[in-house]
Amino acid sequence: MTFRSHMQIALTEAEAAAARGEIPVGAVLLRDGEVLAQAGNRTRELNDPTAHAEVLVIREACRVLGQERLTGCDLYVTLEPCPMCAATISNARIGRLYYGASDPKSGGVGQGPRIFSHPQCHHAPEVYDGIDEARSAALLAEFFGKLRK
Ligand SMILES: [Zn+2]
Repeated sequence: MTFRSHMQIALTEAEAAAARGEIPVGAVLLRDGEVLAQAGNRTRELNDPTAHAEVLVIREACRVLGQERLTGCDLYVTLEPCPMCAATISNARIGRLYYGASDPKSGGVGQGPRIFSHPQCHHAPEVYDGIDEARSAALLAEFFGKLRK
Protein backbone atom coordinates (compact mmCIF):
# COMPACT_ATOMS: atom_id res chain seq x y z
CA MET A 1 0.00 0.00 0.00
CA THR A 2 1.38 3.39 -0.93
CA PHE A 3 1.39 6.15 1.64
CA ARG A 4 -0.90 9.07 0.88
CA SER A 5 -0.56 12.08 3.14
CA HIS A 6 -3.67 13.91 4.26
CA MET A 7 -1.68 16.85 5.61
CA GLN A 8 -3.16 19.17 2.99
CA ILE A 9 -6.51 19.09 4.80
CA ALA A 10 -4.78 20.00 8.07
CA LEU A 11 -2.89 22.82 6.35
CA THR A 12 -6.14 24.21 4.96
CA GLU A 13 -7.61 24.17 8.48
CA ALA A 14 -4.49 25.93 9.78
CA GLU A 15 -4.90 28.67 7.16
CA ALA A 16 -8.56 29.07 8.11
CA ALA A 17 -7.54 29.35 11.78
CA ALA A 18 -5.09 32.13 10.92
CA ALA A 19 -7.86 33.97 9.05
CA ARG A 20 -9.94 33.84 12.26
CA GLY A 21 -7.04 35.29 14.27
CA GLU A 22 -6.25 31.97 15.91
CA ILE A 23 -2.80 30.42 16.11
CA PRO A 24 -2.59 28.59 12.76
CA VAL A 25 -2.66 24.93 13.67
CA GLY A 26 -4.93 22.47 11.88
CA ALA A 27 -5.75 18.79 12.28
CA VAL A 28 -7.67 16.02 10.56
CA LEU A 29 -8.66 12.61 11.89
CA LEU A 30 -9.24 9.66 9.56
CA ARG A 31 -10.26 6.05 9.79
CA ASP A 32 -9.30 3.83 6.85
CA GLY A 33 -8.66 6.92 4.74
CA GLU A 34 -12.10 8.41 5.47
CA VAL A 35 -12.25 11.82 7.17
CA LEU A 36 -14.06 11.69 10.51
CA ALA A 37 -13.29 15.23 11.63
CA GLN A 38 -11.19 18.24 10.70
CA ALA A 39 -10.59 21.46 12.64
CA GLY A 40 -8.29 24.35 13.36
CA ASN A 41 -7.54 26.00 16.69
CA ARG A 42 -10.52 27.78 18.27
CA THR A 43 -9.20 28.75 21.69
CA ARG A 44 -10.00 32.45 21.26
CA GLU A 45 -13.36 31.98 19.57
CA LEU A 46 -14.57 29.52 22.22
CA ASN A 47 -12.74 31.13 25.16
CA ASP A 48 -11.41 27.66 25.83
CA PRO A 49 -7.72 26.95 26.43
CA THR A 50 -8.29 23.28 25.59
CA ALA A 51 -9.76 24.00 22.13
CA HIS A 52 -6.60 22.96 20.30
CA ALA A 53 -7.12 21.50 16.82
CA GLU A 54 -6.21 17.99 18.00
CA VAL A 55 -8.69 18.04 20.90
CA LEU A 56 -11.46 19.35 18.64
CA VAL A 57 -11.02 16.60 16.03
CA ILE A 58 -10.76 13.89 18.70
CA ARG A 59 -13.98 15.09 20.35
CA GLU A 60 -15.79 15.26 17.01
CA ALA A 61 -14.57 11.86 15.79
CA CYS A 62 -15.59 10.23 19.08
CA ARG A 63 -19.01 11.87 18.77
CA VAL A 64 -19.37 10.66 15.17
CA LEU A 65 -18.40 7.10 16.08
CA GLY A 66 -20.24 7.09 19.41
CA GLN A 67 -17.22 5.78 21.29
CA GLU A 68 -14.47 7.10 23.53
CA ARG A 69 -11.58 5.44 21.68
CA LEU A 70 -10.20 5.91 18.19
CA THR A 71 -8.17 2.74 17.93
CA GLY A 72 -6.43 2.43 14.57
CA CYS A 73 -7.28 5.99 13.45
CA ASP A 74 -4.80 8.39 11.83
CA LEU A 75 -4.30 11.93 13.11
CA TYR A 76 -2.58 14.59 11.03
CA VAL A 77 -1.66 17.87 12.69
CA THR A 78 0.44 20.70 11.30
CA LEU A 79 2.40 21.29 14.51
CA GLU A 80 3.92 18.96 17.09
CA PRO A 81 1.23 18.32 19.72
CA CYS A 82 1.58 19.94 23.14
CA PRO A 83 1.61 17.76 26.28
CA MET A 84 -2.17 18.12 26.77
CA CYS A 85 -2.91 16.99 23.23
CA ALA A 86 -0.31 14.21 23.34
CA ALA A 87 -1.95 12.82 26.51
CA THR A 88 -5.36 13.05 24.83
CA ILE A 89 -4.03 11.25 21.73
CA SER A 90 -2.75 8.51 24.02
CA ASN A 91 -6.06 8.25 25.91
CA ALA A 92 -7.94 8.05 22.61
CA ARG A 93 -5.70 5.13 21.53
CA ILE A 94 -5.00 6.76 18.16
CA GLY A 95 -2.99 4.47 15.90
CA ARG A 96 -0.75 6.85 13.98
CA LEU A 97 0.25 10.47 14.48
CA TYR A 98 1.64 12.51 11.59
CA TYR A 99 2.82 16.02 12.34
CA GLY A 100 4.51 18.84 10.49
CA ALA A 101 6.71 21.36 12.25
CA SER A 102 8.29 20.56 15.58
CA ASP A 103 7.59 22.97 18.43
CA PRO A 104 10.56 23.76 20.67
CA LYS A 105 8.41 26.10 22.78
CA SER A 106 5.38 23.94 23.57
CA GLY A 107 5.85 20.51 21.97
CA GLY A 108 5.40 17.43 24.12
CA VAL A 109 6.25 14.61 21.73
CA GLY A 110 9.82 14.95 20.45
CA GLN A 111 10.93 17.24 23.27
CA GLY A 112 9.82 18.59 26.61
CA PRO A 113 7.95 15.89 28.56
CA ARG A 114 8.01 13.43 25.61
CA ILE A 115 4.61 12.10 26.65
CA PHE A 116 4.70 8.94 24.52
CA SER A 117 7.94 7.65 25.99
CA HIS A 118 6.94 8.49 29.56
CA PRO A 119 6.61 5.42 31.82
CA GLN A 120 3.03 6.45 32.73
CA CYS A 121 1.94 6.49 29.07
CA HIS A 122 -0.39 3.54 28.48
CA HIS A 123 -0.58 3.83 24.71
CA ALA A 124 1.79 5.39 22.20
CA PRO A 125 0.84 5.90 18.56
CA GLU A 126 3.29 5.39 15.73
CA VAL A 127 4.77 8.84 15.18
CA TYR A 128 5.84 10.35 11.86
CA ASP A 129 7.22 13.87 12.06
CA GLY A 130 8.33 16.43 9.50
CA ILE A 131 5.33 15.92 7.14
CA ASP A 132 5.10 19.13 5.05
CA GLU A 133 7.12 20.71 7.84
CA ALA A 134 8.21 23.78 5.84
CA ARG A 135 4.64 24.78 4.99
CA SER A 136 3.43 24.37 8.57
CA ALA A 137 6.34 26.36 9.91
CA ALA A 138 5.86 29.11 7.30
CA LEU A 139 2.21 29.57 8.31
CA LEU A 140 3.22 30.00 11.95
CA ALA A 141 6.10 32.33 11.11
CA GLU A 142 3.85 34.49 8.95
CA PHE A 143 1.18 34.65 11.65
CA PHE A 144 3.55 35.63 14.44
CA GLY A 145 5.41 38.00 12.14
CA LYS A 146 2.15 39.86 11.49
CA LEU A 147 1.39 40.02 15.20
CA ARG A 148 4.70 41.75 15.90
CA LYS A 149 4.18 44.53 13.31
ZN1 LIG B 1 -2.34 21.03 22.16
